[in-house]
Amino acid sequence: MDNCTFCKIIKGEIPSYTVYEDEKVKVFLDIDPSTDGHLLLIPKEHKETLFDMDNELLTYMLQLIKEKLYPLLKERLHIEGLTISQNNYLGQDVKHFHIHLTPRYESDGLKIHYDKSHLSKLEDVYEKLK
Ligand code: 5GP
Ligand code: ZN
Repeated sequence: MDNCTFCKIIKGEIPSYTVYEDEKVKVFLDIDPSTDGHLLLIPKEHKETLFDMDNELLTYMLQLIKEKLYPLLKERLHIEGLTISQNNYLGQDVKHFHIHLTPRYESDGLKIHYDKSHLSKLEDVYEKLK
């Protein structure tokens, strides 16, 4: 995709601090990290969201996290936890599927704030979902 930042990173048109790469995926440091070692894991083929992704490739990516990326972060950066997140549509700035791997450290001070003042009652939401 011509106008996609992550496709440009894959093609080498935009530089990145790449920590792992193979024929299917690329893993590099987020340019604006939430914590030290914040990685982005992306497919080389342009897909916009999770819902466009092939299940086999998703499995491959999760396996990569378990077997390569978490051990790498644990061994080299001594991370104490790992938050895995992924935005689709709203909240997704880059429209090329990516998984955030955000290392956690006891002292990282990372706080995610939600405004809960307008939330519906749990029972009302459950009525719609069950
Ligand atoms: P989103 O909000 O789409 O889930 O996350 C996009 C992420 O991509 C952000 O954390 C942002 O810092 C990162 N990002 C955006 N542009 C670039 C770039 O050119 N290089 C790198 N390494 N990360 C980028
Ligand atoms: Zn792309």
